[in-house]
Amino acid sequence: MHILVVEDEQRLGALLRRVLSEERHTVDVAATGPDGLHMAGTDTYDLVILDVMLPGMDGIDVCRQLRTYDVQTPVLMLTARGTVDDRVRGLNAGADDYLVKPFAMEEMLARVNALLRRRNRDLEMSEEIRVDDLVLDQVRHEVRRGDRLIDLTPKEFALLEFLMRHPGQVLTRTQITDHVWRYDLDALSNVVDTYIHYLRDKIDRGFERTLIRTVRGVGYKIQD
Ligand code: CA
Repeated sequence: MHILVVEDEQRLGALLRRVLSEERHTVDVAATGPDGLHMAGTDTYDLVILDVMLPGMDGIDVCRQLRTYDVQTPVLMLTARGTVDDRVRGLNAGADDYLVKPFAMEEMLARVNALLRRRNRDLEMSEEIRVDDLVLDQVRHEVRRGDRLIDLTPKEFALLEFLMRHPGQVLTRTQITDHVWRYDLDALSNVVDTYIHYLRDKIDRGFERTLIRTVRGVGYKIQD
């Protein structure tokens, strides 16, 4: 799983990175509120561990902004003061759980695992993803646009699913490669453009409204 840690205390940030990496997670660390907001808002993490007291912008505002942008990544808030007020503010801002500092690493891991399990369950529950008249059915492994059944290769299906899970959100070529071609070491630099071209041919060609958009100089998004 891909986890973002937003923590300005270097030693704690490094410790969290080490402990989570040992559990085979991929970990990025941001040290300020604005950096954390930018990274969580533009990348697609499975979980964000967010300190409340941060330079630039506090964790509560970061969390609130993420939810305003419709980023639904689970957030585990780290609060230094065990006051009810901080916890309530965090949860009201859209955090999913909180940990009071100082905490034991075992407890942190237990909370992280619970949030990741819950997220996976939610993702599995949503068997159908829909963008406009385009529907992707994960269980049947089928894609339809309107009443037309569309035949996709496994990679095309994975790419479309990734786009559809982030409707309206621009995804960079790097993000797409990381998610769709993660284990293919031979993925070429233009593989994303090539597959977007294949997908467009199957999803958008012949339809009045095109769903896959190019965001010049950045990447791609799907939008209804
Ligand atoms: Ca802090």
